[in-house]
Amino acid sequence: TALTGPLDIEVQDVSFRYEKGTRQVLDHLNVTIPQGEKIAILGRSGSGKSTLATLIRGDLIPNSGQLTLAGVETYRLGDTISDYIGVIQQAPYLFHTTILNNLRIGNEQASIEEVWTVLERVGLKELVEKLPDGLDTMVDEAGLRFSGGERHRMALARILLKDTPIVLLDEPTVGLDPITEQALIDTFFGQLDGKTVIWITHHLQGIEKMQRVIFIEDGHLEMTGSPQEL
Ligand code: ATP
Ligand code: MG
Repeated sequence: TALTGPLDIEVQDVSFRYEKGTRQVLDHLNVTIPQGEKIAILGRSGSGKSTLATLIRGDLIPNSGQLTLAGVETYRLGDTISDYIGVIQQAPYLFHTTILNNLRIGNEQASIEEVWTVLERVGLKELVEKLPDGLDTMVDEAGLRFSGGERHRMALARILLKDTPIVLLDEPTVGLDPITEQALIDTFFGQLDGKTVIWITHHLQGIEKMQRVIFIEDGHLEMTGSPQEL
């Protein structure tokens, strides 16, 4: 399914619960995210942020209401959705293969030159250059460990290679120290110009870089405004 028209995400009256008889995690949620918007989604732990992210990715189906990308319900898109939405989660996964293969996931066509360019953009070029086997270094090779921050940079590099128009960040910096976190936020937002960015976060660090902030509580939109208004 190739999508046409603006890649707006529309959450229309969406309700969702994981199992019959359990509580409604999302309760008639409404929000529209126009293509290109940078939006932060805040809310307490358990408020349904990651559930919303999973629904946006089409990996869950709303019980009622509609969640669409360019007018098509996201769960109908299947694997196609990964052409449009790149995701970075709290613990990005690296496969037990070479650095090059890890980066080419999603875009096997990427040239070596493009790979180096994105490594530079995410601040990993020097690290990889210094490895004896460079891009061919095995990620699980004894002694080669990526730190939390470096894994996130790898995940970002993957997304930049794939060049998805929408990037969904689900608390990507949780658990990192504040300096690493700030450096990552600066890299993320410095590299995602022109893309839709949906940033799910617990706290306020970095939200001034966003155009809009929404708060989810009890499964619905509690507040929405610009970072300055908060
Ligand atoms: P956090 O800030 O801690 O990441 P969150 O806002 O992302 O929280 P969700 O992970 O969306 O919250 O969870 C919302 C609710 O749904 C919670 O009550 C959680 O226990 C429940 N929940 C989440 N995933 C599942 C699942 N796979 N099966 C059943 N219930 C789930
Ligand atoms: Mg979550």
